[in-house]
Amino acid sequence: MSRYPSELLTLMGFLKQLPGVGARTAERFAFQLLTWQPGQLHLFAELLGSLHDKIKHCQACGCLIDGSDCHFCDKDKRDGTILCIISSAKDALSLENTRAYKGLYHVIGGLLSPLDGRSLEQLGLEQLQERLASLEVKEIIIALDSTLEGDATSLYLKEQLEKWGFSASRLAFGLPLGSSLDFVDGGTLSKALTGRQRF
Ligand SMILES: [Zn+2]
Repeated sequence: MSRYPSELLTLMGFLKQLPGVGARTAERFAFQLLTWQPGQLHLFAELLGSLHDKIKHCQACGCLIDGSDCHFCDKDKRDGTILCIISSAKDALSLENTRAYKGLYHVIGGLLSPLDGRSLEQLGLEQLQERLASLEVKEIIIALDSTLEGDATSLYLKEQLEKWGFSASRLAFGLPLGSSLDFVDGGTLSKALTGRQRF
């Protein structure tokens, strides 16, 4: 028999699924949550339960939308001739923070990772192709992580884009292999963006 009540173990199991949270931290978080007021815990639980209803992805670009309009697809404010392919909606926010990019985005579902069973179908390439046909994009930037999976996905995308008649550039990282966009500071990302290179 465990020393912990089973609900607490379950809670720790959930917390451990968060990035960077190991068993010790999960335990600390769980005990911290136990000290919260019941009302606060209810609000937290309610928010978690409704995350998918409240926070939506734009049907066109895949970025997160606030309300009904997509800020990232706004024709009046964005440069419709340039499109940046990213792996997660979060990357759009990182790139926005650099203030060096005003074009469109397209979120693919993730990176190719045969080991994790993520395959070509999950990149949503048909949707990308359809979207490109409806836009007037002249330049495509592939902004994926500088990791093995990121590189493999970038190469594959580049080949696909060429088949569809587009050429692409890639962020000039100047970063060690294994860098995820998540961990790149704004200055480095801004430089990587302006120094982008043709494949
Ligand atoms: Zn959008």
